[in-house]
Amino acid sequence: MGVYFDNNATTPLDPQVLEAMLPFLRDCFGNPSSPHQYGSRAKAAIEEARESVGALLGCAAERLVFTCSGTEGNNTAILSAVLADPGKRRVVTSAVEHHCVLRRLEYLRDHMGVEVVFLPVDGQGRLDLDRLRQAVTPDTALVSLMGANNETGVLWPVEEIAGLVKSRGALFHCDAVQLAGKEPFSLRTLAADYLTISGHKFHGPKGAGALYVARGAPFTPLLFGGMQESGRRAGTQNVAGIVGLGKAAELARAFLSVSGHEKLRELRDHLEGRILAEIDDVVIHGWAAPRIANTISLGVGGAPQEVLLAELSDRDFAVSTTSACESASVAPSHVLAAMGVPDRYLRSTLRLSLSRQNAIEEVEAFMVVFPQVVSAARRLGGGGR
Ligand code: PLP
Repeated sequence: MGVYFDNNATTPLDPQVLEAMLPFLRDCFGNPSSPHQYGSRAKAAIEEARESVGALLGCAAERLVFTCSGTEGNNTAILSAVLADPGKRRVVTSAVEHHCVLRRLEYLRDHMGVEVVFLPVDGQGRLDLDRLRQAVTPDTALVSLMGANNETGVLWPVEEIAGLVKSRGALFHCDAVQLAGKEPFSLRTLAADYLTISGHKFHGPKGAGALYVARGAPFTPLLFGGMQESGRRAGTQNVAGIVGLGKAAELARAFLSVSGHEKLRELRDHLEGRILAEIDDVVIHGWAAPRIANTISLGVGGAPQEVLLAELSDRDFAVSTTSACESASVAPSHVLAAMGVPDRYLRSTLRLSLSRQNAIEEVEAFMVVFPQVVSAARRLGGGGR
């Protein structure tokens, strides 16, 4: 078996999650809206999962809408806020959001006349809160900002941001897809109107996510049809997926409650320390900012990232360059470009993202091959200094 360091793209399903899901792919196949026992069993399982996700996020279960992805949650939140008040035609976001936020907003700007402000970040991927404050004008419908960046792992002070945004009278949406299950936070103290999570980022299944909608926050369904999810998301629910999401949330809560993320941070820091000690001309993007425990965004001077990736893949080590959805693109990462990363590292960056399933032995195995891989990539890229 290879070594998997691409957990920000997706995580392996926890075996306990799979166990929890299996009955709902076999005998308990009922439609949760059906008026018989098959239906009620499926419905009860969905409601149990809702409680479990609510416990992870620190919110009442009924505030959660199950979705099929983080992408869906983000699109739903943004549209809901923009459609709510025709007098408010401005949205504030950042230049380093996931493309499902950026492209949604670009479409609204280009086709619906919404003014979109893309806040810049500094060289460490940090946001300037004074600039944010100035950007939130009375005609601002929504501020949409991520909790943790998927490429660098840089964390933003979302509680402070939410307070600031709410005090200026706008709605606040947090894309917490890379944050949930990885760092502790609670909607009891984070005053978001909308918050998005996705199960496959924390050892749950793909195709199952949730959107938190605060009481009183405007809401327009993205999908119309049946009355599933209390009329907030039509379409027969993905029962097994939702059950898996619920189990993954329960396990993530247990992991955070014993400070599992701090152990993961030690493993990440150990890997980072060895890379910095053993390989010259490398940089960690966002090293001076607070970061989620699992991520390293590593610039390797003079080494083309496709070569690094291919050489590692040949040796059965899975890492990535940018977010998985953009890996087919030849353009440099918009996140690193926004951080002003110098050309030397812009197309020479690997993302290593760990999870609670990784072990020290895998880090050691990586460090056996990585120096050779870097030398080979530098030779092939003609990338001396
Ligand atoms: N937001 C962030 C920050 C992400 O990293 C991702 C996925 O990589 C998404 C949203 C989209 O989530 P999903 O893959 O569930 O659509």
